[in-house]
Amino acid sequence: MQKLAFKFTSLVIVGFLLFFSCQKTTIISTKHLTEKVIIIVMDGARFSETWGDSSHTFTPNLSNIIASKGCAFNEFYNNGDTYTSPGHLAMLSGQYYNLNNSGTELPPFPTIFQYFNQTYPNKKSWLIASKDKLEVLANTSDTKYNNLHLANTDCGISGLGSGYRDDSITLQNSLNILANQHPDLTLINFREPDFTAHMSDSLGYLNQIKKVDSLIYELFKLTETNTNFKEKTTIFITNDHGRHNDLNGGYSNHGDNCLGCRQIMLFATGPDFKTNSVISSNYELIDIAPTIAELMCFELPNSQGKVMSELFK
Ligand SMILES: [Zn+2]
Ligand SMILES: [Zn+2]
Repeated sequence: MQKLAFKFTSLVIVGFLLFFSCQKTTIISTKHLTEKVIIIVMDGARFSETWGDSSHTFTPNLSNIIASKGCAFNEFYNNGDTYTSPGHLAMLSGQYYNLNNSGTELPPFPTIFQYFNQTYPNKKSWLIASKDKLEVLANTSDTKYNNLHLANTDCGISGLGSGYRDDSITLQNSLNILANQHPDLTLINFREPDFTAHMSDSLGYLNQIKKVDSLIYELFKLTETNTNFKEKTTIFITNDHGRHNDLNGGYSNHGDNCLGCRQIMLFATGPDFKTNSVISSNYELIDIAPTIAELMCFELPNSQGKVMSELFK
């Protein structure tokens, strides 16, 4: 009888452990410290002006301060379509798809927002963007997920179709949302330096990289001081695409396969990641979503990317 009771107790304990541990095949550890994830996108900066510039002239906060607190990537790429909407969709879904770049098409499959919200209905996710067209990334045309498990959105002047807004407004809104809502999964898009580069203003393009570098640092400081985020937040800072290198038309445009368009920056910091490390293996935009699914312990079906296991301590 005692033996049977012991067996039953063991079964209960094993069942309990299974229920409360992550049920995924890619598990690195069941004890991730990350509770919140923020992706921050500097729209359309070339690698040669960010981490690829060893003087770090235009990204002093990212390349000196934030890089020392996490990992910086030497070989990180958008290997899909090098436009804004497909680039953001790649990082949010782990899949490359040439989504219409003007905000008139819903992604044909859900992103991490919907899978995360489905898994954790009581947690909060936010999609915050200077570019209104990115609002479509909160939803999908997949009939099983359409209009379900949606992220909160704060995009453009007043949502889809309203036009772009200044990055300073996006910073203020982001600081307010982080401080008051303390969301668990967030993407923040700053439209510069892409917006100014398209006007063929070379000096403005460089100035805007430096400006967004300082805006990102404002967000980073909040996560280091606010008790809702401190020591439990993982941050990915990247670009949706680069811009043509000089042999392929130069900085003012982007959208093809050239190295200038494909190579982008990635900085990753968080309680589960190494500090002061440079990663030289090849990774790409579609690897961000599966890494987040691993950190936050939820299923991400159909991803073409891989967990960036080198990041982990
Ligand atoms: Zn873009
Ligand atoms: Zn190009």
